[in-house]
Amino acid sequence: MQKTPTSPFATLGLDERLVRALAALGYEEPTPIQSEAIPPLLEGHDVFAQAATGTGKTAAFALPILHRIGAESDRGVAPSTLILVPTRELAMQLAEAVHRYGREIGVRVLAVYGGASMETQLKALKRGVDVVVATPGRALDHVNRRSLVLGGIRTLVLDEADEMLDMGFAEDLDAILAATPKARQTALFSATLPPRIATLASRHLKAPVRIEIAKEKTAPGKLPKVRQTAYVVARGHKRAALGRILDLESPVGALVFCRTRLEVDDLTESLKGRGMRVEAMHGGMSQEQRDRVMKKFRAGTLELLVATDVAARGLDIGHLSHVVNYDVPSSPELYVHRIGRTGRAGREGVAITLAEPREHWQLRNIERLTKQKIEVASVPTVADLRAKRLELTRASLRESILAGGLDDYRVVVESLSEEFDPMDVAAAAVKLADPSAAGSGSAGEEHEIPAIAIAPPPRAVKSGTKYRSGGREPGNSARIFVGAGRAAGVRPGDLVGAIVNEAKVSPRDVGSIQIAERFSLVEVPEGIAESVMKALRGTMIRGQKVLVKRDKDAGR
Ligand code: AMP
Repeated sequence: MQKTPTSPFATLGLDERLVRALAALGYEEPTPIQSEAIPPLLEGHDVFAQAATGTGKTAAFALPILHRIGAESDRGVAPSTLILVPTRELAMQLAEAVHRYGREIGVRVLAVYGGASMETQLKALKRGVDVVVATPGRALDHVNRRSLVLGGIRTLVLDEADEMLDMGFAEDLDAILAATPKARQTALFSATLPPRIATLASRHLKAPVRIEIAKEKTAPGKLPKVRQTAYVVARGHKRAALGRILDLESPVGALVFCRTRLEVDDLTESLKGRGMRVEAMHGGMSQEQRDRVMKKFRAGTLELLVATDVAARGLDIGHLSHVVNYDVPSSPELYVHRIGRTGRAGREGVAITLAEPREHWQLRNIERLTKQKIEVASVPTVADLRAKRLELTRASLRESILAGGLDDYRVVVESLSEEFDPMDVAAAAVKLADPSAAGSGSAGEEHEIPAIAIAPPPRAVKSGTKYRSGGREPGNSARIFVGAGRAAGVRPGDLVGAIVNEAKVSPRDVGSIQIAERFSLVEVPEGIAESVMKALRGTMIRGQKVLVKRDKDAGR
């Protein structure tokens, strides 16, 4: 783990155990709400903040609380902190976050919500906790049963206060707050500020420090001409969605922003797995590593750079076609700053943002401040990708026709035209040239790639095209099954090339090759079969890893 003597979190005055936890999580610097809320909270002030999910607000209030708990020598049974939230999901999520940040401090956290066993909660409360994260209804139940004692509360947080009021918890909140000491510190976080929130704040907060993360200081019109698109996707589908979007957009040089180093590393690996030319860039890398990556990026050997904001800050990159926000940025200012890296020097730029459903409204917030529209689009379907590839094939055919030099091929067309309609001949040639022909999915579309771990049906083999015939005796040769075929754009040259390059054998050793719709069969001498299979497994064919095995029907 990296030592973090210069961590900006340490500069905020946080306990070094927390600073270490944040470094381990890959947080490189505070988000705006954190920079603004942590110092006053550490000083004991009340805070009244407008901030929504995705801004980093959880850490903004959790870190000062943990800092205080870390300094306490005698922690009792009764909690010193109560965090009230609207839903059980949020209670669980928040308790988990507090636990993660405060592991080294040995914080005892309990989530208390309706629908869960009262028994378990009672036992945990009896054993002793520092932080209770609760939904108002269940918290009040415990208060009335005296199982939750609020006399020792030093900090109280109302998180997503607008939601709590919308859900009808106003009276419960009043009752709970009345049971806590007057001298407590109170923090109120709300995504929106309707008048009822102001009333709640004026009743329960003492001279609060006001924080509004969505400050209207972005000058409209200063933005470059950038096509701005957002996709609303569930967390679990983000990687697959991004893969498809990138396939459709085909960026020539794109910067993908993630919140943390860990996310940068994970996403980079996943995109590499899809066959993309991509490298990571974050604060955990040495200068030398970064220089190497930048050199590749500038030389155009990389299509994508996945980076944290901190790492991207000093980068001088000229030719970005796309900027991608893997999450909604934690503030509109950050959004503007990021997308300002594309669409420079009169070229068209594209900004893409992935938003989880609960972050959706933050896009509206950004739109309001930038006075520019962010179009919400649907994640491209496999059919969209196919259409796009077909368009590319059409364009390259056009180029090829214009470039001429087709005489050698006219002979083929002429001879086939004696038997077939020339239109069909041309269509068949286009099909062969088009990687998306006959239902190929994009690499990584797991659910659309057919199950390939099955022996090929003989009929399909017959329908495959035989390209080379090796004159070997069946006994001497082995037939290798490769789980990608015409549908994935595989050509004989791809297989011969992969075998010759990777297994270091002569092209003459490669026998007959048959390419069927979804798989291919290659014959090689038995003596080199194992090493050829090993080599093929270790390489990519048409940008993807494929299943390679002995064909069960060999020698038939
Ligand atoms: P929240 O707004 O509290 O729901 O946080 C949104 C996401 O941002 C969570 O996944 C946090 O782990 C992450 N996060 C919070 N603070 C930071 C930070 N300073 N740097 C990077 N990621 C952060």
